[in-house]
Amino acid sequence: MLEIIPIPAFADNYIWLLRKENRGVVVDPSDAGPVIAYVERERIELAAILATHHHGDHVGGIRALLARRDVPVFGPAREVIPGRTHALAQGDAIVVPGIDLALEVLDIPGHTAGHIAYVARDEQAPLLFCGDTLFAAGCGRLFEGTPAQMVASLDKLASLPDSTQIYCGHEYTLANLRFATAVEPVNRLLRQRETREKAKRDRGMATLPATMAEERATNPFLRIDEPPVRAAAERHAGHSLDGRAAVFAEIRAWKNAF
Ligand SMILES: [Zn+2]
Repeated sequence: MLEIIPIPAFADNYIWLLRKENRGVVVDPSDAGPVIAYVERERIELAAILATHHHGDHVGGIRALLARRDVPVFGPAREVIPGRTHALAQGDAIVVPGIDLALEVLDIPGHTAGHIAYVARDEQAPLLFCGDTLFAAGCGRLFEGTPAQMVASLDKLASLPDSTQIYCGHEYTLANLRFATAVEPVNRLLRQRETREKAKRDRGMATLPATMAEERATNPFLRIDEPPVRAAAERHAGHSLDGRAAVFAEIRAWKNAF
């Protein structure tokens, strides 16, 4: 059976450890220290490394992990990933060594230009590893892409089934929900979700994985077609907004300053 364990790193990063018996694969190892501590304590053999994008707080631990054990490194073809052995892009399918997990690759540019996501579709609930593109109740900043690219990437992720389990790169959920409530105060599901997520944090748990159903219901960046979200964006902008990318861009700019 596959277990998925969050290894916290830095202030709010999660390194996802996919564990099958005594073998493990890490997604976005920002820092080698917490990974090494975990695999040594649990006697896990590291079998592969997956990267979603090139930011240091996602790939910074790869070299030190490779120095300890030489394993394949899967990462986006269009970005520089330390030690990468397998360059991936939209439509690629891989079977992750050690844990025999079949994953599909999606191109999701916006946060970075070559950002990819990994989807396991053959699970009962699909698994999505989406780095810094879709967060629980939020999305990543646009460092290298345009609003139109990010909207297309989020649309691609939002087309996955309701049951999809979302494993993203940071614990930003409570701050994202505060912003989501400012955008859409009439959405009662936001308050319910905030209560649920706060209870998890109070117990020291990760709020993740999120599900696609709850993202569609509460994430303002997936709700740009909802009249209250569009109206809030236009109020914030002080004028009407032409098109989905413009609504998205306004909400993203609002969040950046929130
Ligand atoms: Zn990033």
